[in-house]
Amino acid sequence: MSNEIYEEAVALDKEFNFFVTLESPKSGIPIAIKDSICTKGIQSSAGSAILKGYVPPFDATVISRLKNKGYSVLGKTAMDEFGFGTLCTNTSRVPKNPIDPARACGGSSGGSAGYIAASKHAKFALAQSTGGSISCPASFCGVVGFTPTYGRVSRYGLIDYSNSLDKIGVIAKSVKDASEAMSIIAGSDENDETCQGKTFKNPEALSRALKVGIPKEWLDQKIDPDVRKVFDSAVEKMKSLGWTVEEVSIPSTKYSLAAYYVIAMAEASTNLAKYCGLRYGATLPLKGEFTEYFSKVRGKFFGEEAKRRILLGTYVRMAGYRDKYYYQAQRVRQMLIADFKKIFKDYDIIAAPTMPVIAPKLEDAEKMSPLDMYAMDVLTGPPNLAGLPQLSLPCGKSQGMPVGLHLIADHDKDELLIQAGEKYGL
Ligand code: GLN
Repeated sequence: MSNEIYEEAVALDKEFNFFVTLESPKSGIPIAIKDSICTKGIQSSAGSAILKGYVPPFDATVISRLKNKGYSVLGKTAMDEFGFGTLCTNTSRVPKNPIDPARACGGSSGGSAGYIAASKHAKFALAQSTGGSISCPASFCGVVGFTPTYGRVSRYGLIDYSNSLDKIGVIAKSVKDASEAMSIIAGSDENDETCQGKTFKNPEALSRALKVGIPKEWLDQKIDPDVRKVFDSAVEKMKSLGWTVEEVSIPSTKYSLAAYYVIAMAEASTNLAKYCGLRYGATLPLKGEFTEYFSKVRGKFFGEEAKRRILLGTYVRMAGYRDKYYYQAQRVRQMLIADFKKIFKDYDIIAAPTMPVIAPKLEDAEKMSPLDMYAMDVLTGPPNLAGLPQLSLPCGKSQGMPVGLHLIADHDKDELLIQAGEKYGL
């Protein structure tokens, strides 16, 4: 089996660029892993030229757990550099959407999602989300994306984008496969103090009708009318399951995306400071002052989006601007969490379209401004900023491309989301 999986992956990679590196067959079931998750003895470059050649001497906790269950690493999947992106185009290896190769896979876990959509053998791949990087590509590629509650899965060995937002999760063929993967990777880890301990058990079938809230402010965002139609039919399907579906309100929606980007960039800019051409990855011949060397290495090997985020992130946490931007964003984060908590007093889950559009064409992506790109995260930013678990499920098609249904639950209600997803179907 491992040979077949490898050969299929090689063929798919030739056609669609899903992988940064592929490993020859080992024992066990080979699993595709996002390139930002450290794998012992296998290059882990987070999609960045600055980490080219970095081979970790250790496995991330999620990798050790998979290996203990008899899985092995198939390869490292293509991603936006350090997770900075929504289309998986901010990197040298841009994966193509297997449903229409002229279109993007979505980011930042594009390689993992595209591979799961195209593979006949693979059941799940590991991915990571900071502000939507599991749900977005799952939606664009028509597969299941599961983003756990922040802290439910260890981040030990994850190459950080933004520590207070990053979650390792799963892209899978079915909700059951996502649940199976979660039961292996979740649970406390002494190497990650933010991982608070709850293991994950495959839940029983759902035995009651759910109350579902749809945030009206989210539907007021710029959502493609065809995507909206598909979402409306998903709402009908939920009602046909006997679920109550009602409108709810998240007043802080209008500030959420801005707050997400302020916090994400502030943390990213500090995390990237360690890439200076000495300890990890790419180097240049050593000469001159350290600051000169540091700037040369970073100037040469960081991509444009990483540089933009270093500049913006440094700016928002500078003395004098910190109160105005960074602390203000933290206040919005608290307001948003309070808005969600209020809804979860009366409702089991929140539903929305995962993305406001279908997978964009790669040629159109090239013309998008960074702000156009950030704006696409309007529906996935808020639940990520609040650290809530999310499940993206394919719920129909528009122009032949998949549309995702996003289900969101309260903190630590990951099992309920799996139950809801299995009931909804897939
Ligand atoms: N598109 C978002 C960003 O660029 C989210 C990416 C992610 O979740 N890693 O920050």
